[in-house]
Amino acid sequence: MDGLQAGTLYNNISLKPFNTFGIEANAAHFWQATTPNEVIEALKLAKENHWEILILGGGSNVLLCTDWEGLVLQIALKGISVVPTEKLNEVLITAAAGERWHNFVLHSLELGLYGMENLSLIPGCVGAAPMQNIGAYGAEIKDTFHSLVALDRNSLQYRTFTKEECGFGYRESVFKSSLKGQYIILSVTFKLSAEGEVNIGYGDIQKILEANDVTNPGPIEVSRAVITIRESKLPNPEVIGNAGSFFKNPEIPESQYLELAKVYPTMPHYPTHPGQVKIPAGWLIEQCGWKGKKMGDLQNYGVHEKQALVLVNYGGATGQELWDLAITIQADVFQKFGIHIQPEVNLIKA
Ligand SMILES: Cc1cc2nc3c(=O)[nH]c(=O)nc-3n(C[C@H](O)[C@H](O)[C@H](O)COP(=O)(O)OP(=O)(O)OC[C@H]3O[C@@H](n4cnc5c(N)ncnc54)[C@H](O)[C@@H]3O)c2cc1C
Repeated sequence: MDGLQAGTLYNNISLKPFNTFGIEANAAHFWQATTPNEVIEALKLAKENHWEILILGGGSNVLLCTDWEGLVLQIALKGISVVPTEKLNEVLITAAAGERWHNFVLHSLELGLYGMENLSLIPGCVGAAPMQNIGAYGAEIKDTFHSLVALDRNSLQYRTFTKEECGFGYRESVFKSSLKGQYIILSVTFKLSAEGEVNIGYGDIQKILEANDVTNPGPIEVSRAVITIRESKLPNPEVIGNAGSFFKNPEIPESQYLELAKVYPTMPHYPTHPGQVKIPAGWLIEQCGWKGKKMGDLQNYGVHEKQALVLVNYGGATGQELWDLAITIQADVFQKFGIHIQPEVNLIKA
């Protein structure tokens, strides 16, 4: 960690390397934890000093709007373990919260397991994955999730959550709603099998496989196809600061969609629950003319040129500037379509 030692208190640390938007913000106090005991030590320290705590994993789903006056606690616990279940070819695979999500996916693929391939190349750490039930290319972690272990920030007791207890929904879980701020996720367990079927019906996966003459794809081939698509469509945060999709895709009543479709017959839509349809937020934003727009005197932030759902920091933008842009886009979409789009990214304000 850039020369910093885990389990050690640092003061006045720049958070620029710890958020993929590349926002320059400072943490008054910073602590990286690589063991559950180091997490507990940090919680005690924060309590003694009345510091507010900000938990960070890879910082790929946060927008830092101000300096953090309290303690930033980076969860960096490592380790992956695998145990067989009673079912032939099926395993429970557990990763510590600080494992890089994509490394974990690659590890599961090396073991010949199905289930993670469509979630390849999502940035961030394992511990944050349940927060919003990360998903991509027709898969969500809830499809293979088994359980997780979390630490209660107040009682310092460990608790195991089953899938039902996590309340997963589209980019949602209890950790973002009813239990917000109460738990620190320490490890996550998935149930995976060495037998299965791949899901290639989403996006351009099938097209890429065909172009590469892959006729009978397994998880590794699907993962490679997903990586190819993602690399072609999404900006690499190491090159252009971003946090992936800034907004969630809104779900609207089918009746509202049918009215809108009279005016916008090409509006893409996907049925979800009975009577509800999902509209791609990227399409709505693009229709409002935002795709590729650059903002600021320095033209140093804006909306990505290939994907209108992604807000970008070309360098030097503040979190507040990006947040103001997000609010303007939200208002434009509402004015044009009567649809309220909600941010997916976690806004961090003091
Ligand atoms: C280029 C790009 C593409 C992306 N594509 C996708 C995608 O396809 N699908 C998708 O779902 N997301 C996507 N994302 C968003 C992001 O990668 C995921 O949400 C990821 O899970 C965030 O992980 P993180 O470790 O970076 O979390 P952080 O940004 O560090 O934290 C996110 C939130 O979780 C909390 N948190 C983090 N770790 C813990 C923990 N251990 N315990 C309790 N709370 C915790 C934080 O306080 C914060 O509120 C993308 C982001 C980028 C930059």
